[in-house]
Amino acid sequence: MSGTTAPNQRLTAEAPELIALLMKHWGYPAFLPNQAEAVDNVLAGQDSLVILPTGGGKSMCYQLPALALPGTAIVVSPLLSLMKDQVDALTASGVPAGALNSSLSAEERRDVTQRLRQGELKLLYVSPEGLATPYMVETLRDVAVSFIAVDEAHCVSQWGHDYRADYRNLGALRQWFPDVAMHGFTATATEAVRQDVIASLGLRQTAVVVGSFDRPNLTYRATYRRDLMAQLEQVLERHKGEAGIVYCISRAEVEQVAAALSKRGHKALPYHAGLGAEVRRKHQEAFANEQVDLIVATVAFGMGIDRSNVRFVAHAGLPRSIENYQQEAGRAGRDRLDAECILFFGGQDLMAWKRILGAPATEYDRAALEKLNEVYRFARSLTCRHRFLVSYFGEDYPHANCGACDVCFGEHAELDEAVLMSQKILSCVARVRESFGGRHVAEVLKGAKHAKILQHGHDQLSTHGLLAEYHLNDIGDWIDQLVMQGFLVREGEWQVLHLTESGRRLMRGDDNVRLSAPRAVDKPKKAKRTGGGGVELAGPEEELFQALRAWRRELASERGVPPYVILTDATLVELARERPASHVALMGIKGIGESKARAFGEQLLVLLADHSAELGLAQAEAVAAAPAPVESARASTGQQAAAFTAFRKGLGLEDVAALTGRAASTVEGYLLEFIREEGVDSPEPWLAREVYDQVGATAREVKAERLRPIHEALGGAIDYGQIRIALAIMANQHSR
Ligand code: ADP
Ligand code: ZN
Repeated sequence: MSGTTAPNQRLTAEAPELIALLMKHWGYPAFLPNQAEAVDNVLAGQDSLVILPTGGGKSMCYQLPALALPGTAIVVSPLLSLMKDQVDALTASGVPAGALNSSLSAEERRDVTQRLRQGELKLLYVSPEGLATPYMVETLRDVAVSFIAVDEAHCVSQWGHDYRADYRNLGALRQWFPDVAMHGFTATATEAVRQDVIASLGLRQTAVVVGSFDRPNLTYRATYRRDLMAQLEQVLERHKGEAGIVYCISRAEVEQVAAALSKRGHKALPYHAGLGAEVRRKHQEAFANEQVDLIVATVAFGMGIDRSNVRFVAHAGLPRSIENYQQEAGRAGRDRLDAECILFFGGQDLMAWKRILGAPATEYDRAALEKLNEVYRFARSLTCRHRFLVSYFGEDYPHANCGACDVCFGEHAELDEAVLMSQKILSCVARVRESFGGRHVAEVLKGAKHAKILQHGHDQLSTHGLLAEYHLNDIGDWIDQLVMQGFLVREGEWQVLHLTESGRRLMRGDDNVRLSAPRAVDKPKKAKRTGGGGVELAGPEEELFQALRAWRRELASERGVPPYVILTDATLVELARERPASHVALMGIKGIGESKARAFGEQLLVLLADHSAELGLAQAEAVAAAPAPVESARASTGQQAAAFTAFRKGLGLEDVAALTGRAASTVEGYLLEFIREEGVDSPEPWLAREVYDQVGATAREVKAERLRPIHEALGGAIDYGQIRIALAIMANQHSR
């Protein structure tokens, strides 16, 4: 009898064996939202499309079933570098995986092919272009394929922003593997993309799993660009020593900002399509390997970024669409710890994009312009940012106040003298005879005296310099707000401002208007830990965290893998907080499974002990693991699975109680179930051999398998729990 499920009984995500695998290989005691459902579809062989936001834990949805199911799962992944990282990460977690792609040497390729043929690999990563080759068809012919997972599945869709022609070939997979289930994974949620993916991949009766698109661990801000460098400086001040990305619209701006940051003493690397491939690769790697924490980039810096501990993403200008914003800003906080996304923008950004996009010629171009306007609306809106974003993707937002955006923090104020301010602006539009654009009007109000203003005699107008004390961008913003509210319209190629009927009414004081301006905030608020918890640690714990990072960086570079493959920031934070002092306690930390405990356990324990002593931090004597939240049945399933894993490794009752944070009686219950399920037939290490033999002899003597007679016959020397365990083991011996 082997403790696993009988072959005709389908394995489900809830099965203890599965949670045990999650615990053993990844060190996670429970699923994240939607993971169980997604895993279940894969286990059931039901075609599916899984749409979860970045950081939602999509990879686990196919990696865990791949490990549990017989055969090899084929994972289609668009980028060679990410493929390597995934394989390294799986290997570090004790999951046999390999990749076949054009970057391999002949020898590596032979090795992977051989392991594949021998059925050793649970996952095989392939690139979409590689799949179409005769070599691959030949190689995969005799492989028992458990299922096919297509990562970044939106790349198959023309509607998506990352369309890749070679993804189009993936439809052919359906013909080669008519009986194998296929699953798509993406973070792009729009309905058009969704339908396109299902159709292009040829998914059948697709089970669609859609998670919430809210990213509660991200704090959003959007504010007018005034002095970009000063504004960036403030962001950097909030994120000292942490990783961040600054996105710019143009290559020239990337160079400028990167140089300016470097000049101010921040080590920042540029990244854009104009740099040579080699330079780009080097900069990306330096960032991924944590040799550099700041990257200034155009959107060309994208899919290949696999750094999960990006703590802020700043946009120096408007992104191209809400979808783009979601993607780019979404690169922050992939490790589920708190991160900040801040958007600096101005009306000029629209012009900059229009220049890049060119005159709209097709339906597609017009859609692109509409998307641009939408993201501009997002930037200027005074609606909760979390609400705006999830509503955009068709989801309801349940909270009145997200506790994690500039709007909800009250960082924008309504202008008291909005009517007066509007009247000044509107009358300036009238004074320039409704013949100039917003920029010019704002400059007149500001009191600028450049050639164009002098040439038209606009320095002589009564409205010249009327708003001299305000920032040009603020004036421009109020003009925008008046346009949005219908008091002004922009017309013609030059976007000339005209007064509307209601604009004239407002000028006479017969209408009302609301304008907003950013409030001066000394110290921006921090999110109220709505998400996965913060990175924020108190003094010495922060130092310990930095020591752990340094250790990880070194180890990662020794092994030629990105640091997160060793351990994620979330795990390092927990290590710095909990400071486990024993192997058992170490295993209670999320993200440390068996393989990693074996590989780094000793080093970590020594490092924790040394640094804790030095920093005057206490270490938990009683190996108390962070108690898992007991809110759900799944959490307790997770604890049970954790206990099973520990029993399997031969840990005793006390250790397992400490590890799972459960009462001794609960753990005894776990052990009894474990004994039954795994068919355990020998008492060690849970029961001394003599005790076991003694209970056996007494049970035979009193001809009873009930507890009380045995307990009494033994004179009360052996407690009920031990007797129960002994009997359970004996039952297994009898059944053999
Ligand atoms: P995605 O591909 O959806 O962006 P990832 O697969 O990179 O997300 O996972 C995001 C983070 O969540 C990773 O750090 C991963 O280790 C972690 N994670 C995945 N599954 C779990 C889980 N069940 N419990 C805790 N953390 C998890
Ligand atoms: Zn909000």
